[in-house]
Amino acid sequence: MCSMKKYISPHSIALYNKCPRMFYYYIHEYKSLPPPEYYKPPLEFGTLIHKIIAKYYELIPDTLVPTEILIHLKKAFNELWNVKYEPFRERVEKQLMNFVKFEKQRLSWHFNAKPVAVEKEFVKGRVHGIVDALFRKGDDLVVVDWKTGYVTAAYNDDINVQLNVYMWLTGAKEAYVVYLEYGYWEKIEKINIEEIIKMILSDNTYAPLRGPQCDTCPYQFICMTKDPFNYSVYGEEI
Ligand code: SF4
Repeated sequence: MCSMKKYISPHSIALYNKCPRMFYYYIHEYKSLPPPEYYKPPLEFGTLIHKIIAKYYELIPDTLVPTEILIHLKKAFNELWNVKYEPFRERVEKQLMNFVKFEKQRLSWHFNAKPVAVEKEFVKGRVHGIVDALFRKGDDLVVVDWKTGYVTAAYNDDINVQLNVYMWLTGAKEAYVVYLEYGYWEKIEKINIEEIIKMILSDNTYAPLRGPQCDTCPYQFICMTKDPFNYSVYGEEI
């Protein structure tokens, strides 16, 4: 017997894009194999970077000049630093300096200094997502998401879906992903995420899509052994 997730997340939508059946297993909380190495987030490290950035946004004033960025970031760093993080110090400092680089760019794009929301959950119908930062730029909203891990081509597609879901949830016109490990950022290409969400909600077969994605699928064992062609057992509503 499996339980079912209450909300559809950007992660589960990205799974649907790869294979509807994979989405079905995930949303119904089937037991999965451990994720491949590149999906494993360096949890403590990533959480720390996100916390320092959130604290920095709490500390900055409503108007900010580029020379003040480092002062506030150092304060945030000092408030949250703990000796247990020492093994990460070099990497944390490198990523924070890349964050400073993005902040300078962001100010030059005339985003408001203070974000509208930081690490905030947005919900629309059955879909939810936690947005790293939401900024105002003139009359528009812009989503920004920090990535602290290493990036692979497969992961890029997931990021595109994730940020499009965030734009749809918040009503933002633009979204940027900032790769803090590498010190560069990209504007997200818009896709029709609403259509994808509608398709997911009206799907009642979750047909398996065999392909290269099967090689890294965390449900391959169950999928290959549980009569994958008997669609009737998958006909229940999500
Ligand atoms: S093994 Fe392949 S077909 Fe089955 S759920 Fe995974 S990706 Fe889909």
